[in-house]
Parts: sequence; C-alpha cells; structure tokens
Amino acid sequence: MTELQSGDHAHGASALYLLGRLDEITEAAFERHLAVCATCRQECEEFGPAATGLSHLSTEEFRAIVAGSAAEPISTDRGTGQPR
Ligand SMILES: [Zn+2]
Repeated sequence: MTELQSGDHAHGASALYLLGRLDEITEAAFERHLAVCATCRQECEEFGPAATGLSHLSTEEFRAIVAGSAAEPISTDRGTGQPR
C-alpha cells in the first residue's frame, strides 16, 4: 500500500536509522514514524540484525530494542561515527 502523507519524510529511512546515520532529530522522528508505519517496522526487523551487526540477536530481541526506541544502549561500534 502506498500511503505517503505530507511530511512523512521519515519513510524509507530505516536503513540509515539502523546504521546510525540519522541525526538526533531525524532519529527521533523516525522512531515516532516506526510506531505508526508497519512497513518501516518490518524493514527494521528484516534488515536490523545485519545492518547493526546484531545478528546474534533473535528477531524478538531486536524487535524489543526497536519497540523500546533503543532504551538499552547498543554497545557495538555504532558510536564510531560520533563527532569528537
Ligand atoms: Zn514508513
């Protein structure tokens, strides 16, 4: 289904989100978008483990992380892109 709404710029940003390439504002917007967009949720669930190197996590575990808006800090090398 194609239900793009105006201002729905977050749609399709799941890859960037999973790679930690979004800035804080866009990341927050995308997390809100995830709550209402099943397509992006599914993308995150499918691509998440591979994109983040969390392939050791089960789909359920990863889904919990996504649903919790990364309430638990992901202690992989996701932070290597941070500005010094
Ligand atoms: Zn979406």
